[in-house]
Amino acid sequence: MAICQHCENTWSYKGSLKQILKFRRKMTCEHCKHHQYYSQNSYWAMQMIMVPAYFILIPLLNIVLDVQFLLGLLIVTLLLVIYFLLTPKFLSLSNKEEPLW
Ligand SMILES: [Zn+2]
Repeated sequence: MAICQHCENTWSYKGSLKQILKFRRKMTCEHCKHHQYYSQNSYWAMQMIMVPAYFILIPLLNIVLDVQFLLGLLIVTLLLVIYFLLTPKFLSLSNKEEPLW
């Protein structure tokens, strides 16, 4: 779970998911109200996997398993929803906005 780098309190699953759903790099700690940012690793894992997944997994499902486009879209979306619901468990925070690379 995410630990605030300012007050060192652990964020709840619901609070973390709420912050992630805002789709902003800057988040507010539910305990101290201090701004927190995705750590570099968290940002890569959470943001950069979502979009390319559609462009890679759907054609891959189509080629390898001969799955139709809409079924592939449904499968990838379902996988991403599961992935998205798990992300609060692996969220790590930083006090400052870190560069992507
Ligand atoms: Zn805090």
